[in-house]
Amino acid sequence: MSDCIFCKIVKKEIPADIVFENEAMLAFKDIRPQAPVHLLLIPKQHVQSLEHVTEQDGVLLQQMLLTLPNLAKDNGLQEGFRTVLNTGPGGGQEVDHIHFHLIGDVRHISNN
Ligand code: ADP
Repeated sequence: MSDCIFCKIVKKEIPADIVFENEAMLAFKDIRPQAPVHLLLIPKQHVQSLEHVTEQDGVLLQQMLLTLPNLAKDNGLQEGFRTVLNTGPGGGQEVDHIHFHLIGDVRHISNN
């Protein structure tokens, strides 16, 4: 989608601090981190939200889920991590390109 900021990051049209990339997905640092490590994992193809996922996206979602623990370890999170997937305005989703937040160590967040 031409006006999607995450699609622009995929196409390298706007900068991002990319920490992982393969043919299907991209992970980069959140610009407003909630914890010492706060990454976003996105598919390269534009999928608006979890409500827009189809059967055909099943393998992609599985790959993303399997990538998260490796991404966490590679970024220094040895004792676990938090994943958040906001869906739609009622779920607090502000960027309409599906993304997993990968957050850690949440013990560094004051209200946790
Ligand atoms: P929320 O802001 O409620 O967490 P989302 O779940 O849609 O909503 O998350 C969007 C995330 O994308 C936010 O954490 C925001 O800081 C991050 N973000 C927005 N623009 C960029 C960008 N250009 N580079 C990196 N992160 C971004």
